[in-house]
Amino acid sequence: MNTPAGETANDQQLVCSSCGTSPPPDEQSAARLTWSRGSDGGRTTWTCERCSRVNLRSIEGKLDPVWW
Ligand SMILES: [Zn+2]
Repeated sequence: MNTPAGETANDQQLVCSSCGTSPPPDEQSAARLTWSRGSDGGRTTWTCERCSRVNLRSIEGKLDPVWW
C-alpha cells in the first residue's frame, strides 16, 4: 500500500478541538451531523460527540457546587 500525498478531496477535515481526534474518511460526512460545530475567530471548530457531552456536563456542573 503506497498512497501518494495530495489526494485530498476534502478541503476541511474534522478534527476535535478538545481531544484532537478525527473520524475516519468514510465517517466524515456523518460526523458533520453529530459533532458540535463552533467558531473561533472566524475559523470553524469541531467538537466530537464524546467531548460535547463532557463539556455539557462540566457547564452544568458549574451551576451547583457539589464539593462542599
Ligand atoms: Zn473530542
